Formats: sequence, structure tokens, C-alpha cells
Amino acid sequence: MPTRRDLLHLAAAPLLLRTARAADAGADAEGMERIDTHIHIHREAPALVASFKDSRWSGLDIVVCPTEGDEPYDLGARLDATLKGARSSGGRIAWASTFDARGFESPDFAERTSARLRRTFDDGAIGVKIWKNIGMAIRGKAGAYLLPDHPSLLPIYEAIGRADRTLVAHLAEPDGAWMPLDDKNPELPYYSKNPRWHMLGRAGVPSKESILDARDRVLARYPRLRVVGCHLGSDEDDLKRLARRLDAFPNFAVDTAARIRYFARGNREQTREFLTRYQDRILYATDFALRDTAPEAGAKTLLARHRRDWDFFATDAAMEYEGRPTRGLALPEPVLRKIFRDNARRWLPGIGV
Ligand SMILES: [Zn+2]
Repeated sequence: MPTRRDLLHLAAAPLLLRTARAADAGADAEGMERIDTHIHIHREAPALVASFKDSRWSGLDIVVCPTEGDEPYDLGARLDATLKGARSSGGRIAWASTFDARGFESPDFAERTSARLRRTFDDGAIGVKIWKNIGMAIRGKAGAYLLPDHPSLLPIYEAIGRADRTLVAHLAEPDGAWMPLDDKNPELPYYSKNPRWHMLGRAGVPSKESILDARDRVLARYPRLRVVGCHLGSDEDDLKRLARRLDAFPNFAVDTAARIRYFARGNREQTREFLTRYQDRILYATDFALRDTAPEAGAKTLLARHRRDWDFFATDAAMEYEGRPTRGLALPEPVLRKIFRDNARRWLPGIGV
């Protein structure tokens, strides 16, 4: 039989738990404005914006131009729809524009592209996305792959820098794109479904290192250009490799989009050490894509993702992350503030409320 004292103790337990949680580093920061620096919405989505407002989140809606051959693609419509969504969001959603790199061999390419980008800057775009089709898909007339440091792209980077915008760069892929498709490949589900991006054994395709080296030459050439590397800069498989690059290029930061699972399955202490050491260079992001989902349902999914990720970074709770057991990182509050807000504001000026 429980004594009266035991019962009192039991009744107080939830309160004690709450107090313990309030003492957690993250609990104070949880009420702050937070920023997801990599999402794909591309339309007006009032329910999603309302959810952002309620939960005190802002986001960056990033336009991608996924072209590679001579297929038609209405980039203008995509840019317009994204602009419209951002404009109707009351400042909750900023946007990043992009350009179609397929015409890179035509003589007026750089001039024409820079002029178009400047119009998107006038429309409030705070950054420009370049995508993995540069390095892995787009080829010139003679068959050579377009690399990120091709001379035709340099004036575009200069135009982005002159306008004080940020280059948002998803270049290359996880190591899994160059590994056999077996159980040892952490990206087996993705490349099984997207064989187009599985590069192993393909003749003439640049290696991952040569793509990232070309990106690094851009970082070195334009030390004042802010560059955010999407998906941990494609160095998600090796934080030491990423650390070397962050050390070498002070103008380079990375987002966590769709790659927090690499932290969750890695060595917890090494991950904590990495995130603490590079606390000024990591931007929280999900890579959430609304696609054809109703904004109400999309908002719910994204809110759940934001909660899960916050718990992973801020608490030391045992949890499952995409089906794998792990434990939260319990990062200190000043680090959480940077990763979830302040870095976004510094690397992507104009983002957030
Ligand atoms: Zn994305």
C-alpha cells in the first residue's frame, strides 16, 4: 500500500519533471523565434504561414532549377509563385531565387542571367540557389560536365556578391551516390528510388572530390561571398572533412537540411564537439517540401519535424530518429540560439521576422 507520503510524491512527479526540463539548457530558448533555412513551398499557403506564426518559426523557400538536357522548364512560373508565397507571408517566409545553367556556353549567358537575378533581388530574393545538376548532370556541347567554377558562372557569383546576397549551394551528394547500392549504403532508399543520381560506375562523371574542389575554388576566389552549403556541404559522411573545409573557408557555412539523421546515428560526443566548435557555421534546416500536400497537413508534418529536431538538439532524451534509436545532444542554450536563429540571420540577411 502506498503511504500518504508516496502519494504526495507521485502527485508532485510531473511538476518535478517539468522543473527538471525547465532547467534544461534548451527550455528557455524553446520560446524564441526559430528559423528553418531550407524549405520548398512555392505557393501561397496561409495555413502553413499561420502555423509558423503560432509556433514562432520562419523559413527560407528555396527555388531549384532541376534541368539537365533540353527538356522544357518554366522557371519563371516557379519564381513568380514562390515570390507570391513569400509576399503573402507577413515576413515569415523569405525566398531564394535561382537560374537555369543549361545555356552556360552561349556568349550572353552570364550577362543575361545576372540581369534576371538582379530582378529577383528587386523582388526580395535574399539568396541564389545552385543545385547538384551543376557538376553531376549539365554538360556542354562537347560532352564535358559543367563544374561549379566554370568561367561562365564566375560573373554570376560576382553579381550575387555585389548585391550582398547569399549563394546557397547544393553541390555533389552524400558519399552513398558513389557507393554500391547495398545495406552498407546509408542512402540506399534514396538512390534506389532515384537511380538518376547514383553515380557509381558511370563513365566521365566528375568524382565527388572534383565537384567539391571546384566549389572550394569559388570559396577561395570570392572570400567575401557568403556561401551556405546545403546538406552539411555534402560532407555529411565525414565531419572531420567538413571541419577542414570550414577551417579553410571562413565565408562558408552549412545547413542541416535532411542530414540530421547523420548526426543522430554518429558518435554523440564527436557530434557535440563538432557542433560546439562550429556553432557559428551551422544553420538549422529541414528540406521540407510541400509539393501537392494540402498546406494544413503540410504544416502539421513540418511542426512535428521541428519539434523532433529541437528535442534532438536541445534535450538528452532517448528517442527514435527516422527509425533508429538515439539520444538527444543537449547542446547548451547559446549554441542552440545560434544554430536555430542567429546564424540564419547572419548568413542569410533578410530572413525571419
Ligand atoms: Zn532542398
